[in-house]
Amino acid sequence: MSRRRAGTDEALDCLVVGGGPAGLTAALYFARFRRRFRVIDAGASRAAWIPTSHNVPFFAEGISGPEILRRQRETAERYGADIVSGTVTGLQRRDGGGFVASVDAGAGANMDIGARHVLLATGAADIEPQLPDVPDAVQRGLVRYCPICDGYESRDLKIAVIGHGSAGLGEAVFVARTYSDNVTLLTLGSSLELSPEERGHAERHRIRIIEAPITALETAGNRIAAMTTGGGEALQFDVLYSALGLRYRTDLAVALGAAHDPTGTVIVDDHCQTTVKGLYAAGAVVRGLDQIVIAMGHAAVAATAIHNRCELPTVDEN
Ligand SMILES: Cc1cc2nc3c(=O)[nH]c(=O)nc-3n(C[C@H](O)[C@H](O)[C@H](O)COP(=O)(O)OP(=O)(O)OC[C@H]3O[C@@H](n4cnc5c(N)ncnc54)[C@H](O)[C@@H]3O)c2cc1C
Repeated sequence: MSRRRAGTDEALDCLVVGGGPAGLTAALYFARFRRRFRVIDAGASRAAWIPTSHNVPFFAEGISGPEILRRQRETAERYGADIVSGTVTGLQRRDGGGFVASVDAGAGANMDIGARHVLLATGAADIEPQLPDVPDAVQRGLVRYCPICDGYESRDLKIAVIGHGSAGLGEAVFVARTYSDNVTLLTLGSSLELSPEERGHAERHRIRIIEAPITALETAGNRIAAMTTGGGEALQFDVLYSALGLRYRTDLAVALGAAHDPTGTVIVDDHCQTTVKGLYAAGAVVRGLDQIVIAMGHAAVAATAIHNRCELPTVDEN
């Protein structure tokens, strides 16, 4: 069990911002390292959208995202992890080292928390397609966001990919070369200026490209229907992959001056430390593959590095 909870005037060894797969893995590690830490979570994990994941090892029959989160939280709490609801609204450097986080704990309760280290595990949010009742379509597997995650479950189906530019084409090529020879790329009215090499990829995989705007996108029974302008062609698909992109929740890191790449993800070193000393990052906010096992790996690396570098004593060493 947790030896004691840090008060607002007492610096934590680490404040973990975000309680998705990354933040909850860090919680387990910190609890087992007997560190003084807290997880603040706003409760909007991308993992909560997962109907069933089949690529998280150990779950041969698959496991839902909410169940992953529930089990992770329960496991960390078994070791006394302190996981609370709230939103970190600001992060400042503290005189003498470390950070002060401003926290909105809901119902008008605000507090400041001091921490020697901060682990940012705030994740990302999908840019959703313009479709009625997206959550229902995601739960039914009609709309998907990640062919690396669940392309296998879409194999040999009639697939639409919506997206712009090379990101849209890249996802269409990934699906076509791996899972289906019936792939259509819908660019939603934006023209696709392809290099000869990209055009070659698209042709080799027989990807149909429709650049006409889509006037209506809706679920029709167990299929997705898309209506184009011009000829007004009605298209039907089994699955629609959205490659419209993600909004990375990196504001807190960027405000502190952490370096990030053009996509908005933060750049970290081999220990998952950002370019701001003491500020670590894990999961989707970090440049690279956005997968649960990767998020967990980042968090394990970051938590271990923080524990090893932590100047403060562990709870028992006080
Ligand atoms: C439909 C769908 C299916 C997917 N399927 C798979 C799959 O099969 N396999 C796989 O590996 N991956 C899958 N993914 C991707 C997976 O969900 C992500 O890789 C994973 O959730 C990333 O974990 P994370 O902890 O970095 O971020 P998240 O899970 O997004 O968690 C971030 C948490 O931080 C909180 N937060 C954000 N800002 C603040 C703040 N300022 N203060 C406090 N808390 C904050 C958020 O509310 C959230 O709870 C899927 C994603 C989707 C949408």
